[in-house]
Amino acid sequence: MFPAKIDSLSRPETVAETAALIASAGEDDVLPIAGGMSLMQAIKARVVRPGALVDLNDVEEIKGIKESASAVWIGAMTRYVDLASSDVLKNGAFGALSDAASHVGDRQVRNRGTIGGSLCWNYVAACVPVATLALGAELELISKSASGGSETRLVSIDDFIVGPMETSRRPQEILRCVTLVGPRKQIGSAYRKWGHVTDSLPVVGIGVRVVLNGDRSCKSARVAIGGLSRGSQRFHEAEKRLVGTSSKNPAAISDAFRSAAETLEIQSDAWASADYRKVLIEDLGTSVVLSAMARAGEAVR
Ligand SMILES: Cc1cc2nc3c(=O)[nH]c(=O)nc-3n(C[C@H](O)[C@H](O)[C@H](O)COP(=O)(O)OP(=O)(O)OC[C@H]3O[C@@H](n4cnc5c(N)ncnc54)[C@H](O)[C@@H]3O)c2cc1C
Repeated sequence: MFPAKIDSLSRPETVAETAALIASAGEDDVLPIAGGMSLMQAIKARVVRPGALVDLNDVEEIKGIKESASAVWIGAMTRYVDLASSDVLKNGAFGALSDAASHVGDRQVRNRGTIGGSLCWNYVAACVPVATLALGAELELISKSASGGSETRLVSIDDFIVGPMETSRRPQEILRCVTLVGPRKQIGSAYRKWGHVTDSLPVVGIGVRVVLNGDRSCKSARVAIGGLSRGSQRFHEAEKRLVGTSSKNPAAISDAFRSAAETLEIQSDAWASADYRKVLIEDLGTSVVLSAMARAGEAVR
């Protein structure tokens, strides 16, 4: 299918230039395009009909992963392939994000798709929103201010993700970066998904970040789940029930997920029945927690 006519395509080289271009167009008429993996399908199906596109692919300042003592900075235009292969993210405290990126689609999608595109699209079963929710990421959004300069807004991932395909991003804002903060000692995270085929969106995906006590039992956990009708969401009941569990007793972790799943709104649809989704939640949840706990024991970089 061919897209409807698009009047203009711009290729800015800086975030400031991008924000100015977006501000100068009508609110709903201009869209940024990143990897194009979701947006181009929607444009071709004429579900979305922008008059103008602003291509982010030349904006070098929002590409890459940088590590400091207190945080990991990830530019919005960083592609899945780079997240999946990053030594900074692999394993340890932030492993959930490289797991999620390495699970996305097929090689072509991982070579084009970006962390920013995935978060701004926030598809109901997407992997990266679940992993970033589990990690408690911070997001930085930029827009052109009334005085002509740039306005920055910091938003926690919990406030950014509103519902399926809905975020708190304002129409003229560009997502600049995602920051992962917090201590890393005794902390591990992991993500896993299950789908009918490995290279497409999952039926259920689960991300977990655990903080361990000195005796290696769970001190606290952040758990997120995707693929349910409410889209990517925190799984608060599982977080409560995981406290005190340990890898020495996987059955207690399974029990925590089995009972916590009863508090979720779980749909039956063409992909899986609600009962089957509950089995997936218990199985994936247990294996993700065990991986996160194992990673929490690894040496801190
Ligand atoms: C075959 C196939 C299989 C897939 N399998 C999976 C899978 O297993 N798991 C999964 O999670 N996803 C999967 N996807 C979706 C994929 O992850 C998309 O790449 C992702 O949803 C969008 O990222 P993108 O960079 O391509 O963004 P685009 O499609 O370019 O943009 C998506 C939206 O975000 C906006 N946007 C992009 N960047 C910014 C920014 N910096 N600031 C503000 N707005 C921005 C755009 O305007 C648009 O509305 C699959 C896609 C395909 C085609």
